[in-house]
Amino acid sequence: MVASRSARERKASAEAGPLGSVKIELGADDQFVYKITCAECSVPGNKAGRPDRAWSVYRPGQDNGYMAAMDRWIFHLREKHPDAEAPCLAYLEAAEQRLQEQREQRAKGSDPAV
Ligand SMILES: [Zn+2]
Repeated sequence: MVASRSARERKASAEAGPLGSVKIELGADDQFVYKITCAECSVPGNKAGRPDRAWSVYRPGQDNGYMAAMDRWIFHLREKHPDAEAPCLAYLEAAEQRLQEQREQRAKGSDPAV
């Protein structure tokens, strides 16, 4: 049984800690899109008149999307809020390992032969 969207949202919000708020939207093909917004950081707007907005991660995909969004959020916390406490920081080591693997994959990715 697949956990409901709101149950996933609650679980993800709890793991993201007090600074992160998680929203799950439905994207194309009804797939989940994970959005984690930082309560403190904002991204400056642009000259076209887009206003400043909260820093956020946006990743589509079921469990993969969740993990990718959470990894990115963990790195954001480490970088910008080193004193912040969040349950997801327990996965920092695993997140770094995944990042390392992705880099190695990308390095190999220049060769189309698989
Ligand atoms: Zn932040």
